[in-house]
Amino acid sequence: MKILIQSAALLGLILSFAPASLMADDLTPCYGRTAFERLRKRVTLEIAPGVPGLRMCDKENAQYKLYSALTLIESLTAPNEEADDFDTFILSREPWDYVYLETGTFKLESASEEVCRDRAYIVGAGDSAFRQVQVCPSIVNFSALGAAENLLHMIRHAQGHKHESCKRGLNKGAGGCDKSYLEKGANAVSAEFFVKVARDYGVSGAIEREARSSATTYFLSRFNELPLDLEDGIGLLRDDGDFVHYAGRTPRVIFESLPRESQLTAVSSTPFFIRSATCRVLMFEYDRNPKSVEDRLSERQLCSAFQLDENEEIRDFIEIPGMMCALLSESVHCRKSAGELKAHIIPVENARGFLYSRSSAFLGSLAFSIVDSSGDVVPLPLTWDEFSTIQELKAGERKIDLISIAEWSDSKEIAVRLNGDVVIFDRKSNSWSDAPALSGFKAKRLIAPFVWSPKIHEL
Ligand SMILES: [Zn+2]
Repeated sequence: MKILIQSAALLGLILSFAPASLMADDLTPCYGRTAFERLRKRVTLEIAPGVPGLRMCDKENAQYKLYSALTLIESLTAPNEEADDFDTFILSREPWDYVYLETGTFKLESASEEVCRDRAYIVGAGDSAFRQVQVCPSIVNFSALGAAENLLHMIRHAQGHKHESCKRGLNKGAGGCDKSYLEKGANAVSAEFFVKVARDYGVSGAIEREARSSATTYFLSRFNELPLDLEDGIGLLRDDGDFVHYAGRTPRVIFESLPRESQLTAVSSTPFFIRSATCRVLMFEYDRNPKSVEDRLSERQLCSAFQLDENEEIRDFIEIPGMMCALLSESVHCRKSAGELKAHIIPVENARGFLYSRSSAFLGSLAFSIVDSSGDVVPLPLTWDEFSTIQELKAGERKIDLISIAEWSDSKEIAVRLNGDVVIFDRKSNSWSDAPALSGFKAKRLIAPFVWSPKIHEL
């Protein structure tokens, strides 16, 4: 029996932002022949007939990408640190040992092989009795780090670990979650691997950042029991530039005074802050040192994905699973998180910001709406199921002055008004009321639920 990765959801996740794995891969370093010769002695590689020959440093070459992924794992030098809550001990100090001890052979399949033909699988783990990991040519779409993680993840599946459906968070209802981190399933091996890479002294800064954001994404969204003291709550960007997490009674500042000059305009549901000073879309990832916010802003390729011109400013940004939209001065650009990079453009005038409503009775079942300067809510004529059905905007439907809204737990909705007040929707009285615990300052943007714990900064 073959065990295959359920990669569609993972693919979406990977594409959304965090690891730029399926974006053009400029993160794969060029490993030299010496590294490959050493590798050849340590692992059995089988190449199916019809697979193109090895072309060194060609990131579109499947053999090269497989070698690169294995070389990356093999090159990791575990830092000499005490074990902490990030360790599950699936991987020993040297992740290579796991590959070496658990795998017989890697087989690079041709595109016509059944396992690779019909679906978007990147890597399939063969029958565990044969201890063979099948790798499909689509491995070239992954960064070296993403491919390496997939290999380890698949080995874990081949050992009998399966996913369950996601019971919380953005992926609720979808497959691809594990019960807990400490259960040591396939997601745990992925997360632990990313942690080890992020902490490795030898990897480049780009790979370190990709690893840290990938690990964070896993911790936030791939375990039904939140690990590392993470708590559901709301994240609020305040007028003073602080970004604050509310979970219990005491709000905790995650970042103080994010760079003002950077025109921070939006906070995504994945752990990124987004800014746009020029056309460039910059994102910040969770980091152990809040002071290095500016250093850590990492440029991605969303600018071209959204087809922004040089001086366009992103005024707001919103993301739901499968889709993301940017509000520009005179248009909304939307694109799927996975697959096509082409943006769908809807002209708008006088828009102030996005509302997002997943299942709100108040706003209907609209995926996205925008609030115009008069306070009208204007539904965007699309949902992520019907991405292709973009038409012209309808006229405003409801007079309301909310600018940012989100569900907070199953029973509450929380929102920011145009004037910066934070309000909570009470379903019983069908009305909005002030949120006393959140008053005392003006807010610009919220995300709920927003999962956070101080521990995530120790990554
Ligand atoms: Zn999996």
